[in-house]
Amino acid sequence: MHGPKQKYRYDHYTWPEMREAIARQPVCILPIGSVEDHGPHLPLDVDNYLITTMCEAVAERIPEEVLLLPTIPYGFEDHHMSFPGTITIRAEHLEAFVLDITLSLAHHGFRKILIADGHGSNMPIVDLAARKTIIQSDALCACFIWPSLIGDLIRKTRESRFPGGMSHACELETSVYLYLNESAVEMNLARKEIGFHPSKYYWHDLGGGPPVRMVEWWTRISASGVVGDPTLATREKGKLWYDATVNNLIEFIREFRAFEVRPKTDLHG
Ligand SMILES: [Zn+2]
Repeated sequence: MHGPKQKYRYDHYTWPEMREAIARQPVCILPIGSVEDHGPHLPLDVDNYLITTMCEAVAERIPEEVLLLPTIPYGFEDHHMSFPGTITIRAEHLEAFVLDITLSLAHHGFRKILIADGHGSNMPIVDLAARKTIIQSDALCACFIWPSLIGDLIRKTRESRFPGGMSHACELETSVYLYLNESAVEMNLARKEIGFHPSKYYWHDLGGGPPVRMVEWWTRISASGVVGDPTLATREKGKLWYDATVNNLIEFIREFRAFEVRPKTDLHG
């Protein structure tokens, strides 16, 4: 490890120390991101950087209540492979990989596992892995993508249009990146692009999902990789949305930690 041992870092423990950590029953947080195109103005690490930084901020605030696992750095990206640099993990590999991690945690006796996702296309996969974890172990396993923790606040404070202004490398992601590390954002290259088919029922927006979902080859809906309006991004909004995500995540972790793992019943008689 680099620097001092951190109480909230899962992999900073020795194995004998881990026994005490298991007895404490913290919420295990498993972040997952991606290495993926994020327009001409943001680096490939957006999803990894944002979700990891948010989870670290949470863990630093409540180190007794969580254990933070290393971030899974790659995601499901088949539809983004036209953009140079993107790394994709096949959906079935990713699901199996996530499930191997969560079932390992359950095997050791952890009963609360939370998958923290930074990349939209990981969601159906981690959702399924979380369900399978519950079916195949005695643990509870939940997942979320971070903007969904602050839906109300986004609705009140966004400046881009809904739906469409906040999907990918957008007002939301660019604002938070500006807040965390302005020097890595090339705002002069940011451009607005909202290219999916207009519809009452189908759209892409991190501020609220559509009734009907469809994910196309990304180059069919975006030439730059952007879907949304990053030109409206500011550090101030980034701080607002980042702080709220961290606060709400702490609130949920405390609720989740208190959830009882109820016995399941076989009704065959
Ligand atoms: Zn992203």
